[in-house]
Amino acid sequence: MPHTYALALRTRFRGITTRHGLVWSGPAGWAEWSPFLDYEGDEIIPWLRAADEAAEQGWPVPVRDEIEVNATVPAVAPERAAVLVRDAGCGTVKVKVAEPGQTLADDLDRIAAVRDALGPAGRIRVDANGAWDVEQATVALGRLAGYGLEYAEQPCRTVDELVALRVALARAGVDVPIAADESIRRAEDPALVARRGAADVAVLKVQPLGGVRACLRIAAEIGLPVVVSSALETSVGMAAGVALAAALPDLPYACGLNTVRLLADDLVDEPLVARNGCLPVRAVVPSADRLAQHAADPDTTAFWQARLDTTRRRAAAHRPQGRDERG
Ligand SMILES: [Mg+2]
Repeated sequence: MPHTYALALRTRFRGITTRHGLVWSGPAGWAEWSPFLDYEGDEIIPWLRAADEAAEQGWPVPVRDEIEVNATVPAVAPERAAVLVRDAGCGTVKVKVAEPGQTLADDLDRIAAVRDALGPAGRIRVDANGAWDVEQATVALGRLAGYGLEYAEQPCRTVDELVALRVALARAGVDVPIAADESIRRAEDPALVARRGAADVAVLKVQPLGGVRACLRIAAEIGLPVVVSSALETSVGMAAGVALAAALPDLPYACGLNTVRLLADDLVDEPLVARNGCLPVRAVVPSADRLAQHAADPDTTAFWQARLDTTRRRAAAHRPQGRDERG
């Protein structure tokens, strides 16, 4: 029987203040299924395939035993950003920019504080979640580049815009590589960004892309350097991201898998939180006490169980005939 959890976030992130989802165990281990509420219908079938893979099949043999990860700084005030950077102890920091209701001046202040706290050798990447148009992105990245950026993640929403932005940045002499996130995980064709020349880096997330093996296939097809990132899971879901990062042939960038610390607590006694900027590659098992402590209220539980049942029916109806999906 799946457990429905409710965990508060330390800081509002992605517009939510409490993270909900299901965890359950199968013959191969524990699985998390926690599609965000703005994902609906068939779009959450891959999230279920990822959970089923974790519970039923387990993951490919790792080729490394630890994963370098980045710290994440939400759209907070500069003072808070500096504290987060120092507490995380990671050499790479991802900073949210272009937050609705904020201005470029807010982003510049936040990045300045992060650079100051991180030191000149640290790497800073920004994530705009597609909020800028091409002109805004060109201006913003031109200014932010002064602090030294490793890359900019999803600066604009569409693939066409990303293509145009890369040209505009090159013309303006702004040397900031572009990473695609939403353009991969919410796309019909995840490899389109590579074929169109829309990105330099691919951000892959296990749940929305259908599991570790599905992500390995996408990575091979895309042919761009991959950054594995979380969908704000507990350590149970994070272990799947770690398994993907551990199985990729090349892993040139720090991964966005240190987000358990954005949650006020976790379902396991020893969370997958970075030490010295790295996560260990290991299985995790929730504690019975924490599952009970963070159990969602009855209405939320009923909602998630129904959501799972509906998605299982949809997934069964969509499974292609005569084709081995296990890959
Ligand atoms: Mg992103």
